[in-house]
Amino acid sequence: MSSAPLPSRHSTSSTTGLQNMKIESHLAQIGSVSDTVTGAVSLPIHHATAFRHPCLGQSTGFDYARTKSPTRSVLEDAIAHLESGDAGFACSSGMAALQVVFSLFSQGAHLLVSLDLYGGTYRLLEKVLSRFGISATYVDTNDLDALEANLRPNTKAVLIETPTNPLMKITDLEKVCRWARSRELLSIVDNTLLTPFFQRPIELGADIVVHSASKYLGGHNDVLAGLIVTRHKALSEQVAFLHNSIGAVLGPQDSWLLMRGMKTLALRMERHQENALRIATWLAAHPLVEQVFHPGFETHPGYAIQRRQASGNTGIFSFKLKDARLVEPLLRHVRLIAFAESLGGVESLMTYPAVQTHADIPEEIRRRVGVDDRLLRYSVGIEHVEDLIADLSQALDAARQ
Ligand SMILES: *Cc1c(COP(=O)(O)O)cnc(C)c1O
Repeated sequence: MSSAPLPSRHSTSSTTGLQNMKIESHLAQIGSVSDTVTGAVSLPIHHATAFRHPCLGQSTGFDYARTKSPTRSVLEDAIAHLESGDAGFACSSGMAALQVVFSLFSQGAHLLVSLDLYGGTYRLLEKVLSRFGISATYVDTNDLDALEANLRPNTKAVLIETPTNPLMKITDLEKVCRWARSRELLSIVDNTLLTPFFQRPIELGADIVVHSASKYLGGHNDVLAGLIVTRHKALSEQVAFLHNSIGAVLGPQDSWLLMRGMKTLALRMERHQENALRIATWLAAHPLVEQVFHPGFETHPGYAIQRRQASGNTGIFSFKLKDARLVEPLLRHVRLIAFAESLGGVESLMTYPAVQTHADIPEEIRRRVGVDDRLLRYSVGIEHVEDLIADLSQALDAARQ
């Protein structure tokens, strides 16, 4: 599946005249500099935290590394460009990025949030921000009637994950962002699962995009990072102020490592998508499997919306076994697939959301959402698909014994 070219008004490559390139080229070229002194083709890592001022009242643009740091700036410009936004901000984790975004709101603010939400975001809202007088209501963000019904005079924003993790529910971003704007709410989209390679929420009307870059953007399960992209200048200024004031910024070494990962994002996402769809199809026909949740299935309720707003599918899906007693032996018998938390890396990982990623969500809510004790989430890696199917096949056979 090929991706659309990025809009030409965004150009990180104006010096090379390559602004109309497709996203694959932009990704491969992140941080490619022509160092006139050494000719180095790889971006240098600047560890400096302090920068000499040429004279009183002048700055090179860099003063102190929390505010702005050269290696981090290249990453921030790259993600802003890739997401078709105004500015990018790199944070020490996805949670740090969300904390910066939530700091836009003051005591008394209320947020509408996707019901089937990343567990850590739920924990931040319910156990931390609630103490500062910020409240949230969890709704199906694709249901405008439900959003409207839960709107309060103090509602300030809607936070959307699409697809949701782990149940892969799809929200129509264009429709919901338009609704949010009509109600003077900010629309915030967590784009971790699709990345700008497959979906660009700002082009669909979102105000803010957030990423856990620890997942697909980094791609190798070896760097923890978060990114924020803002739609317009006024918002960029507010987020820049909070990013600097809170200080949960990404260090130069990790900024570099993340960019190194992002260069191969296009290749990885294509393979994740292809492997995941094949394995999901295989599992759907397996006698021990009750249901597979994959938005690439024509029977998935979000299929048409997903086709319209994204150019591909993520490498994650979830599936429900017929019997909860199969979960433990299945996880014990997988060999190539690791039983581990996290997602989006080149290696295949399988997670049991009810006890791992979603453990902080009360059982009553989890059941209502459908994250029960028979549900497994699979982050399909880029291994050979036949090896992955063989591993699942032997583990399911062993679990049945
Ligand atoms: C992992 C994740 C986060 C949190 O990111 P960290 O980098 O682990 O702090 C937020 N949202 C989603 C959808 C995630 O998968």
